[in-house]
Amino acid sequence: MNESDTSRHFLRQWIEKDVADGKTGGKVVTRFPPEPNGYIHIGHAKAVCVDFGMAELFGGECHLRLDDTNPAKESDEYADNIKRDITWLGFKWSGEGDSGEPGFYNASNMFDKMYEIAENLIKAGQAYCCNLTQEEWKTHRGVPETPGTPSPSRDTPPARNLEIFRDMKAGKYADGEWCLRAKIDMASPNIHFRDPVIYRIRHVSHYHLGDKWCIYPMYDFAHPIEDALEGVTHSMCTLEFEVHRPLYDWVVDRLDEMGMLVVRNGVKIRPRQREFARLNITSTVMSKRLLLQLVTEGHVAGWDDPRMPTVCGMRRRGYTPGAIREFCERVGVSKVESESDPALLEWCVREELNKTAPRRMAVLDPVKVVIDNFEAPREVELPNNPLDPEAGTRRIPFGREIWIDRADFMEVPEKKFFRMAPGQEVRLRGACIFKCTGCVKGGDGIVSEIHGVWDESSWGGNAADGRKVKGTIHWVDCATGVKAAVRLYDRLFAVPDPLKDGPSEFLKYMNRDSLKTVSGYVEPLLGEAKGGERFQFERTGYFVADERDSAPGAPVFNRTVTLKDSYKPA
Ligand code: ATP
Ligand code: MG
Repeated sequence: MNESDTSRHFLRQWIEKDVADGKTGGKVVTRFPPEPNGYIHIGHAKAVCVDFGMAELFGGECHLRLDDTNPAKESDEYADNIKRDITWLGFKWSGEGDSGEPGFYNASNMFDKMYEIAENLIKAGQAYCCNLTQEEWKTHRGVPETPGTPSPSRDTPPARNLEIFRDMKAGKYADGEWCLRAKIDMASPNIHFRDPVIYRIRHVSHYHLGDKWCIYPMYDFAHPIEDALEGVTHSMCTLEFEVHRPLYDWVVDRLDEMGMLVVRNGVKIRPRQREFARLNITSTVMSKRLLLQLVTEGHVAGWDDPRMPTVCGMRRRGYTPGAIREFCERVGVSKVESESDPALLEWCVREELNKTAPRRMAVLDPVKVVIDNFEAPREVELPNNPLDPEAGTRRIPFGREIWIDRADFMEVPEKKFFRMAPGQEVRLRGACIFKCTGCVKGGDGIVSEIHGVWDESSWGGNAADGRKVKGTIHWVDCATGVKAAVRLYDRLFAVPDPLKDGPSEFLKYMNRDSLKTVSGYVEPLLGEAKGGERFQFERTGYFVADERDSAPGAPVFNRTVTLKDSYKPA
């Protein structure tokens, strides 16, 4: 994290003060707690940057905790990919861990502990079993303005509550028949404080623990316990949890009374929660449920479809971890909800790739040019990256027949068209000056071949007599160029807010032209590109060899981002 003003955000100041006040026991501990029920997206990446970034900044540790307390929809596939994506983003979890892997935790490994804590609460008269239906509870709980009505079970003696709770655990009851509630305050203006459910019955198998449990803790109960037992000092989450914070603190207070808080260097560690605004990006959706729908209904090719806002989709698109981190940094940490422009992320990607991506020539809409007076094949030498002399040069075959982009030729040139046209001179990048003499057209009127002559004395690209040639175009040698499939991606949604008519209507706003596949020719070196390698196709854009589909000799490229855009960051 750099030292600019935006990075001295309120979370950082909050932690700084706690460190100064000696509240951390000498170590800042944060956590990133994804639920393994989907792939992480750019919004999660923001949380990853904050959670891991703050730990890094203070020389502490950040735990990766899979929040697998909700048995449905969780899987190891998701868990493994979350790990892979965080690693790719450039972060490493550290700390003790609960299963041999440093810094890695599964919330479900704490189920026994959570159960024990729930029984403790019951014994202390701080929790009770309730069998009101959800509908009935709504009426009892009431509205913030007036106190609620206590559940008829609110004063059941602890011994009886214990009996029911154990029967709940033993599977005696159906889902929803009973639940366990914290006994807090039925008059609180904060609805979350009115005897919230802390355990519920769910006869659903857990992806790790199978049918060991049929009762599962609620997030508001589980999360502070997880934080406290792991010795987390600073628990950062998104704004919607702000109203849950009193409950978080209530649970931590109870753990304190039970003597269950971690003591580090003589300091009792009380985890505390603070909230920051979610990252929202226009022209996409980020809810895992909707992303899953896009995948399962086949609107995209998978979670890692390069149009998806997922981290794996962005990787496959050719985005870099550095650009994603830079984007999160630029968006900043705030208490106010806002929408970010995907153009800012694209700008970050472009900025980085401009510095690092090797230059190559590729012709995506090819038309053949024959140089009638050219004899023996030659080789041109071009820099791999003009911005980075260290990147060296490459040699590219050049012959009598080359491919150029159709858009670089006009039979009847418009005003100020300085590229290839009959009678006009143009520079063939790195090679020579070429003068077009005419073209051949097919029966359909489409140009099928362009003819012309080269000026031998201009080899290297400049005229011996110093005459000026305005246009320079890129090319691929026909004899040695490699055929490539190239996928041109655009935004997945055609409008800034695909959810404007609600989540059931978002599909109608999909951009029908978000993927166009073309077949082109690329310079020989690109034929051997390895999946994940990124390039700048000169004059065209940034591209990456597809990590799944690209093969030696038969490359497939994804357009990461176009070369230029009018967007300028504020
Ligand atoms: P969903 O509600 O779509 O299923 P979630 O956002 O609740 O997903 P979790 O796996 O629970 O997903 O999130 C893990 C962490 O990432 C949480 O701390 C959450 O606050 C944070 N997070 C999720 N989405 C965003 C976002 N858009 N911006 C910033 N942080 C986010
Ligand atoms: Mg969640």
